[in-house]
Amino acid sequence: MQQEIQPVTPAVTEEQASEPPSTMRAAQTPSSCQDEPLCKKLSQWNDWRWQIRNRIRSLDQLARYVPSLSGRSELQKVIAKYPMAITPYYASLIQHADVSDPIFRMSVPNLREMFDPPCLTDDPLEEHEDMPVPGLVHRYRDRALLIATTMCSMYCRHCTRKRIAGTRENAISARRLRQVQEYLFNHPEISDVIVSGGDPLTMSDAAIEAVLSMLRSVPSVQIIRIGTRVPVVLPMRITDELVSMLKRYHPLWINTHFNHPNELTDQSRAACEKLADAGIPLGNQTVLLRGVNDDPQIIEELCRGLIRTRVRPYYMYQCDLVRGVEHFRTSVRKGMEIMEYLRGRVSGIAIPTFVVDAPHGGGKIPVLPNYVVTMSPTHTVLRNYEGLLVSYPEPGVDMESTVEPASGQAGVWELACGKADVIQPAHTTRMDRREKITAKRGAARGTGYLFDA
Ligand code: SF4
Repeated sequence: MQQEIQPVTPAVTEEQASEPPSTMRAAQTPSSCQDEPLCKKLSQWNDWRWQIRNRIRSLDQLARYVPSLSGRSELQKVIAKYPMAITPYYASLIQHADVSDPIFRMSVPNLREMFDPPCLTDDPLEEHEDMPVPGLVHRYRDRALLIATTMCSMYCRHCTRKRIAGTRENAISARRLRQVQEYLFNHPEISDVIVSGGDPLTMSDAAIEAVLSMLRSVPSVQIIRIGTRVPVVLPMRITDELVSMLKRYHPLWINTHFNHPNELTDQSRAACEKLADAGIPLGNQTVLLRGVNDDPQIIEELCRGLIRTRVRPYYMYQCDLVRGVEHFRTSVRKGMEIMEYLRGRVSGIAIPTFVVDAPHGGGKIPVLPNYVVTMSPTHTVLRNYEGLLVSYPEPGVDMESTVEPASGQAGVWELACGKADVIQPAHTTRMDRREKITAKRGAARGTGYLFDA
C-alpha cells in the first residue's frame, strides 16, 4: 500500500524555524508580500544555498519525511558506502513514500545497493585509466571530460560515478586546474571539453568562472559543455547572476539529466528557459531505470515535455555496469522496444539516441531497432515504423533495363532485386488518411491543385 509522504516539517532541517510548509512548495516569492514570515520562508525556499544547507543527509532527517523508514538502521551502511543528499525541493516532488514513486526511487537509499553481481565494478567505463591528469578523462581524440567537483546537490542512487560522487565534497584545486590547462595546451586536438562532476553547478559562481576562464584561455578549446542535474534537483540555482556569467563563455552548451516527467515542474522549466533565453543550447541525458522510466509511454511523455521546455532529448543511456545499481538495470531489449515505440509517433527532435556506454572505456555505442531488412548489390530493403517494406535502389542502377516487374505477390526478394519497390501494410492510419484525401481531391477535381484562388 502506498503511503503519503509527510509534508516538509520544521523538524527536518537545521534551520528549523525557517522551513517552508508543503503548501509553499515550488512557489515563487511574491513581489509585494503582505505576510512577512511567509515571505521570508518563501525566499529561503527559493535560495539555492538554503536548499544545499538543508539537504536531507541523515537517516533521522529522512525519517522525518518518510516515517515508514524510521528504525531502518540497516540503511546506515548504504549511506556510509554511498552518501545520501536530497534537496528539500526534490524531496517535495515525492508523491508516495515508497519505491513505486520515481522520485523516491532515485533519491532514497535502498538496501539493494549493497548486493552486486560480479559483472558490476566501481568504474565500468574505466575513466580512471583514461585520466592523463587527475580529474581529466581523455577518451575520444577531440574531447575531454573534466571532473570539476565531487559534490552534487542530490546523490542519485543510480549514479554512474558512485565511486566518487559525495564521498568527499571537494572542488578541483587551482593547482589541478593548472595541470589540466597545461595538458590542454599540449593537446590541441581537444576542441570540446565537458565540465562534469559531481555537479559543477553546485560550485560558487566564482569557482565555475575560474574553470570556464581557464578553458577559454586554451585557444584550441572551441566548445565547452556543462553536465548538470541542477535544473532538475535544484532549479533555483539557475540565478540571473549565474546565467549572465555563463553567457560570457559561449559557445557553451548544457546537458541536463531529467529521467521522469514528474521532474518537469514549473520551477525546473523556468530554470531551463532562463538558460535557453541566454542562448545556451540544452540537451538531456536520460538513464533508463527499472521502475522509474522503463516504459515507452513515460519516455514519450518525458520527451514531449522536454521539447516543450526547449530541451532536446539527446541520449537515453543503458544503465552502466556500476556497483550499487543492479536493481535499476533494465534489459537492452527494453531500450530497443522504447525506440521502436517512439519512431513515427513523436517528432525526430524528441527522440534521443539510445546508447550503451561500453564497458572497458569503449565509448557510446548506439543501439537501434533493425530497419535494414536486407541488401543486394543493387537495392537496400528497409522497413519503416508501420511495417512498410521499401526498396531503395543504389546509384547507377538502371531499373528500366534490368527489372521485370514481379508477377503475383512481391516478397522481400523481389524488393531486393528491384522487381517491386514497396510492400504496403493493408491498413495504416497514414494510408487511410491518404485515401480520404484522394477521394476529396477527386470530388473537387478542376478547382485548383495546391491552393484555390
Ligand atoms: S547529479 Fe550526476 S554525478 Fe551527481 S549523483 Fe546524480 S548522476 Fe551522479
